[in-house]
Amino acid sequence: MKVIDSLGRPLNAEYSVETDDGRLALILESSSGRGKGRTRRNGDYGSALELLLDRLKQQAAVLVSALVDSRNTRSLPVADRRLIDKPVELAGVTDIPKLCKDLRNAQRPIGRKSEATTHGNSVKRIRLILNVPGYGPLDHDLLAADLATADEISAEEAVQIFNTMVDNGPTVDSNAAYLRCLELVEHRAAGNSGGRHAVTASKPIRLQAARRAVVIRSGGRCENPDCGKVAPDVTDMGLPVLEVDHVEDIAKGGRDHPEQMIALCPNCHAVKTRGRTRHAMYPKLLAAAAQRHKDQAVIAGDVDETSS
Ligand SMILES: [Zn+2]
Repeated sequence: MKVIDSLGRPLNAEYSVETDDGRLALILESSSGRGKGRTRRNGDYGSALELLLDRLKQQAAVLVSALVDSRNTRSLPVADRRLIDKPVELAGVTDIPKLCKDLRNAQRPIGRKSEATTHGNSVKRIRLILNVPGYGPLDHDLLAADLATADEISAEEAVQIFNTMVDNGPTVDSNAAYLRCLELVEHRAAGNSGGRHAVTASKPIRLQAARRAVVIRSGGRCENPDCGKVAPDVTDMGLPVLEVDHVEDIAKGGRDHPEQMIALCPNCHAVKTRGRTRHAMYPKLLAAAAQRHKDQAVIAGDVDETSS
């Protein structure tokens, strides 16, 4: 996958996200071919790393560990490939370019033969082990897609809207935010993304805007009509601990749209995922999601949204 910059241009740098021992790992491929008449592979390595770290910061992610992960270093003990000595809470990092530089400089000596006289390179394949609030270890495709583009509704903005809503009930702001998220969802789904590129052509596009919309709509309560409990806690960032889920698995044709998505408390989410009663739950949740979507859109005076 390629990182798309804020102007909608794909950078020449390849990354992926995979599950790694119960966590998520972002892999940035190495860059090579500089100045030898060859096309430079992953030539935007540096700017891509910076952009990815910045977007992870927006998500309040923790960089648990960072390792060089190239073919000829993979046999080395983890301790000899490590780029940071302790986890980094990205929300607290004020200078992302500096962090990026440190991560690159730390790569130089790794895997270098002792007789080498030149500096090692700083564009190696790296593996960033992450903790990202709201993303489980199996959400690798989702995180990869979300990181590809800029966050249209920033986490801070979502928290703000959400807090106003919890204090005062649905407000003009929260409805407007909901609709703005919907607009982004529709645009992206239609492939008319205002200069942005669709994230991938083959996979369904899973949008952060859609998840944000559902969290805002939930008002911090489980949307299962048989539950309705207040989320058991908030995240470090201040968003309710609710799992935003597709009622129907997206692989089975569920749409990446808030009218088919629901915010569930951890208990209800567990039942929906592996409870014996889950099949009876689906139609109820689907109806609840559609109804809540309609209510929110109608309050905001934009009933057209529900006909799509
Ligand atoms: Zn619940």
